[in-house]
Amino acid sequence: MKIAVCIKQVPDSWAEKKMVDGLLDRVNVDAVLNDLDEYAIEEAMRIVEAHGGNDEGGPNTVTVISMGPERASESLRKALSMGANGAILISDAALAGADALTTSKVLSTVISQGQFDLIICGTESTDARMSVVPAMIAERIGCAQLTFASAVTVDSSAKKVNITRVTETGVEEMFGEFPVVVSVVEKINEPRYPSFKGIMAAKKKTIETINVASLGISIESQWSVVVDASLRPARAAGVIITDDGTAGDQVVAFLVEKKLI
Ligand SMILES: Cc1cc2nc3c(=O)[nH]c(=O)nc-3n(C[C@H](O)[C@H](O)[C@H](O)COP(=O)(O)OP(=O)(O)OC[C@H]3O[C@@H](n4cnc5c(N)ncnc54)[C@H](O)[C@@H]3O)c2cc1C
Repeated sequence: MKIAVCIKQVPDSWAEKKMVDGLLDRVNVDAVLNDLDEYAIEEAMRIVEAHGGNDEGGPNTVTVISMGPERASESLRKALSMGANGAILISDAALAGADALTTSKVLSTVISQGQFDLIICGTESTDARMSVVPAMIAERIGCAQLTFASAVTVDSSAKKVNITRVTETGVEEMFGEFPVVVSVVEKINEPRYPSFKGIMAAKKKTIETINVASLGISIESQWSVVVDASLRPARAAGVIITDDGTAGDQVVAFLVEKKLI
């Protein structure tokens, strides 16, 4: 079973983010592995360990894939230190500012060429938060998508994946056959901390770096382009109510004024 995990490098959530010429400044800011993708890597590791074989180069492997600037290899290296077997970085100046359509085109091409059975993604990135790439990858590959999974079970002999999804209206059980795209929710598992052995082993593992030309695809102009961006206004100070016996009335008056009641 060949598992691919799509991971994105994003600006550190605490870092001050700046837009430069309509693009998020990804150079002069601390960058980290997208939080929600750590759950995707962990789920992939648990699946291969449950089906026998990872470090021993068993029949089941995990390949982490990322589209991003050169420094995205730092996030791939972290995933390798969690136990992934191999990594692919798609990096190309032509992809700077790529929108979700382009991102999904590039990722689905790498995935199809790699003939992966199971593709695992996080539910969203913490920078753009569009939560669309997994569905777009599935659409482009023409396979089933099992998104927002809070539990995943794989029957590799039947080439089938079952998931549980919790929605506002209840719990859904769904299944799909290989190849299939799955996105996993936060808290589906507890991502492991890379061990010293894992970190050292990751230093020797190869990150295959490719560009658009080697994929044999063309990158059209972006469907959506950020034309302008402005900083969110500073948060206004809240209303402070001192209880001189009329606090209740003051709270009600505030809520009425805000048309909240
Ligand atoms: C502030 C901001 C606003 C943006 N607005 C738009 C917009 O309106 N329209 C638009 O099309 N694009 C927009 N983008 C670009 C968009 O972020 C990228 O195209 C991105 O790669 C895909 O969208 P996402 O990050 O929201 O992914 P999501 O759909 O939220 O990501 C879900 C999962 O897909 C996988 N994934 C996503 N990106 C990658 C990657 N590069 N490499 C590997 N795996 C990945 C990960 O597993 C991730 O957990 C914006 C970017 C920023 C920073």
